[in-house]
Amino acid sequence: MLEKTLLIIKPDGVKKKLIGKIISRIEKEGFNILNIKFLKLSIEEAKEFYKIHEGKDFYSSLCEFMASGPIVVILLEGENCQRRLRELVGATDPTKAAKGTIRKEFGSSIQENVVHAANPEENVEREIKFFFPEIVI
Ligand code: ATP
Ligand code: MG
Repeated sequence: MLEKTLLIIKPDGVKKKLIGKIISRIEKEGFNILNIKFLKLSIEEAKEFYKIHEGKDFYSSLCEFMASGPIVVILLEGENCQRRLRELVGATDPTKAAKGTIRKEFGSSIQENVVHAANPEENVEREIKFFFPEIVI
């Protein structure tokens, strides 16, 4: 199924100068890039974006981290790209991520894991609309 999904290069990925490497990897895997935004979230925006995690012990720290520097938000399209992107990104904890995944290669901790990928079990459409309200899904 042709579908869209959302990838974010988190503040640690930008600080580590991984934008080019990650975009190159995405292109190599055959995803189509529909749009890219470079921006910095306010703490309020980070809290809104990650509100699914409200109440968890890492929520405050996660929101502060996501608002700590610029991020790159990438809208992708491809066949089954929601599931394929999660596979390419790897497990949340880089030490547990499979070989060849972005988090295994570049992640430094369970929080600073370089990228966010929209989760098909949560709400991909909401995440796309959060950053690209003009997009028709
Ligand atoms: P993401 O939603 O960013 O793609 P994910 O779906 O693999 O990651 P989630 O459980 O949705 O993982 O957690 C969202 C983010 O919160 C993680 O990517 C990570 O940055 C942070 N996080 C998750 N669990 C922890 C934890 N135990 N300690 C610190 N930070 C965490
Ligand atoms: Mg998630």
